[in-house]
Amino acid sequence: MIDPATRLAEIRSRITQAARIARREAGEITLIAVSKTHSAEAISPLIAAGQRVFGENRVQEAAAKWPALRETEAGIDLHLIGQLQSNKADDAVALFDCIHSLDRPTLVTTLARAMDKAGRQVPCFVQVNIGAEEQKGGCAIAALPALLDQARIADLPVIGLMCVPPVAIEPAPFFALLDKLARDHGLAGRSMGMSDDFETAIMLGATHVRVGSALFGARG
Ligand SMILES: *Cc1c(COP(=O)(O)O)cnc(C)c1O
Repeated sequence: MIDPATRLAEIRSRITQAARIARREAGEITLIAVSKTHSAEAISPLIAAGQRVFGENRVQEAAAKWPALRETEAGIDLHLIGQLQSNKADDAVALFDCIHSLDRPTLVTTLARAMDKAGRQVPCFVQVNIGAEEQKGGCAIAALPALLDQARIADLPVIGLMCVPPVAIEPAPFFALLDKLARDHGLAGRSMGMSDDFETAIMLGATHVRVGSALFGARG
């Protein structure tokens, strides 16, 4: 079995290689190690190997695992990459350093209120339903301008766009579309690319790649 530190080094070198081909700086790209479903015992070796940015998709799971893990090293950044229910907004604002799943007007209101109350600004990505899939989270492309306006008025710190393209088709056109939407709206962040396609995403402008199984092995 390949140890986590070796996997991490390999992913980092693939990121560097993809950035070089794209004529970008590897330092512009943040690797989010997606640790959802994995235990503290599985996560610790990655922290020891120097990884500092992690992604979780459930508020409750993160609240159970991360307070203790965070104590082990300084500078850990925790990102929420899964859907957020409005009734968990306060918990999410307290726990996470970045939220990738802002996707609807009610959440803009609730998150703005939660951040005010906590006196803590948490940067957000607006998740876009880039493949217009019925069952998928994310705001419709047509609804994006209004949602961004609303977030601006509410003073929510929106730093970019996020997407999860449809499975089993070539993701490049969807990454290119997200990149264009971000550019059109003057947003610097592009959260796109997972284990199977992060290099393609980097070619097309990803600033944040969310890599789970390639680092931790398959989820149970
Ligand atoms: C689970 C998950 C990932 C990581 O997926 P892998 O294929 O394991 O790399 C990335 N983004 C989101 C939103 C996820 O839910």
